[in-house]
Amino acid sequence: MIKEFLSQREKEKYFRSLSEEQKAVALNEIVDQSEHIVFLGGAGVSTESGIPDFRSKNGLYHKKGRRFARYQPEYLLSSDCLYRKPEVLFDYFRRNLDCRAVKPNTAHYKLAWMEQKGKLDGIITQNIDGLHQKAGSRNVQEIHGSALRSHCVSCWTEYGADFIFESKDPIPVCPACGKMVRPEVTLYGEVLPDEAYGNAIHLIQDADCLIIGGTSLEVGTAAGLAHQFHGKHLIIINKGKTKMEGKADLVFHDSIGKILNLIE
Ligand SMILES: [Zn+2]
Repeated sequence: MIKEFLSQREKEKYFRSLSEEQKAVALNEIVDQSEHIVFLGGAGVSTESGIPDFRSKNGLYHKKGRRFARYQPEYLLSSDCLYRKPEVLFDYFRRNLDCRAVKPNTAHYKLAWMEQKGKLDGIITQNIDGLHQKAGSRNVQEIHGSALRSHCVSCWTEYGADFIFESKDPIPVCPACGKMVRPEVTLYGEVLPDEAYGNAIHLIQDADCLIIGGTSLEVGTAAGLAHQFHGKHLIIINKGKTKMEGKADLVFHDSIGKILNLIE
């Protein structure tokens, strides 16, 4: 059993001394001991479903193609672009962010299972693909919104996942009032959705164990949220290095689905 530690240093030393097998045992002990586990996830959770992330070598950032060559990648997903060159944003959005047919992967299903078993309070995700809900998770805080929802910028009528992708108009038009229908994703230059972000903060502050997966914590939002965590155990699962490894009990540089599946 994981003992009570006299100091942070003693705790770090203990966890660093563990072999891979011992880490798997420790992961299960932490999960068993914790009553409020929260998962904070980034793009790496969805890359195993075939959704490209933004900045990695094969990410959207480096693959915008000739059609969008003259635009900065951030501009193509910015509020500036939405209001100044909406036809460009919608063209880019339709070509690159249609995740309607994408299927959840092992990580999504395992997290849904953990919630059903009462082992997980909720998920905070930076992803806009809706894959956690497709896998069956219920408490999902989408802090960057969802590409599967849309609404009118004027009358706020809500439209589903298909509306923007199937609209024949270059700029999708609200049937109720004739104004633009936009995706419910947080664009560059916009503030995060109040409700999801507030719920995310509460989840993190009440958590005694935080599992961070698939994010390098380089971008502000996830890092800011992670710093709100003051619970007992921090676990990081990411293929590359992440910023908060010094504070983590357990660090796995591996596939998220594979490591989550170690949980019994
Ligand atoms: Zn409208």
